[in-house]
Amino acid sequence: MSADLAQIYSLRATAPTKPKIVAKGIQKYFGNVLAMKDISCTIHEREFVAIIGPSGCGKSTFLYLIAGFEKPSGGDLSINGQPVGGPGPDRGVVFQEFVLFPWLTVLRNITLGLDIKGVSRAEAEERARKWIRLTGLSGFEDAYPSTLSGGMKQRVAIARALTYDPEVLLLDEPFGALDVQTKNYMIRDMQDLWLEANRTIVMITHSVSEAVLMADRVLVLSSRPSEVIADVSIKLPHPREQRDPALRRYEDEITAILSAEVDKAMSLERQSIVQRS
Ligand code: ADP
Repeated sequence: MSADLAQIYSLRATAPTKPKIVAKGIQKYFGNVLAMKDISCTIHEREFVAIIGPSGCGKSTFLYLIAGFEKPSGGDLSINGQPVGGPGPDRGVVFQEFVLFPWLTVLRNITLGLDIKGVSRAEAEERARKWIRLTGLSGFEDAYPSTLSGGMKQRVAIARALTYDPEVLLLDEPFGALDVQTKNYMIRDMQDLWLEANRTIVMITHSVSEAVLMADRVLVLSSRPSEVIADVSIKLPHPREQRDPALRRYEDEITAILSAEVDKAMSLERQSIVQRS
């Protein structure tokens, strides 16, 4: 590990951080369907928070509310003390599907946002090259997306989001579309990246092992209409090892909470099917 990274690791373990994203009693209706009944949480500056919950509980919706793509039906959502009014350059989103422009090279895909913003070509490229190196894309600057694997495409999407220099990085199941081997490799390989990025990161995932390996805290949502049912701090230093027994204990704890919630949701669904028939 480099001396710089070692310093970031130790700073991260000790640094007091202030609230960055504050959600109070967030409700979200789609038509007359209540998707969220009460999402309340505080995510601090430079924290890496993973959000996990049964399928359809509103994880992506919560991320889109933070991104400003959706509006809450009730409650308060603020970033840096200001209500979220819409999308903004302070937030970068990485989606599950690799959203790249096929006619642009890796480098141009990454610098596009800065080009549009009017940043000079030299500065845009300099900023891009740092994240190209840290995402393991060196040597692929002039390649086109069609020649890249899924994992490499997602590295480009992550490098692009970081090059734009957002305060908050929102990851919507960033490894969800990858095969298991690529996904595991990327999660291990990119641990240093998140520390180097030193941003507030919110990641949606359905994988408990991914959440405990990467995040400082894991929020578990109930089934729909959702609320936060557990908030677990993963008090282990980075970089983490998947086979570390301490990590496995966190994984087991969260899996038990999640399994109980999924069982509850399934039995409610069964009851409602029986009542309707
Ligand atoms: P998750 O990410 O946890 O799987 P989502 O946030 O995608 O869940 O969705 C939560 C619930 O809200 C689901 O029941 C989904 O069908 C519903 N939903 C999400 N977006 C919309 C939408 N634009 N219109 C109607 N219903 C939606």
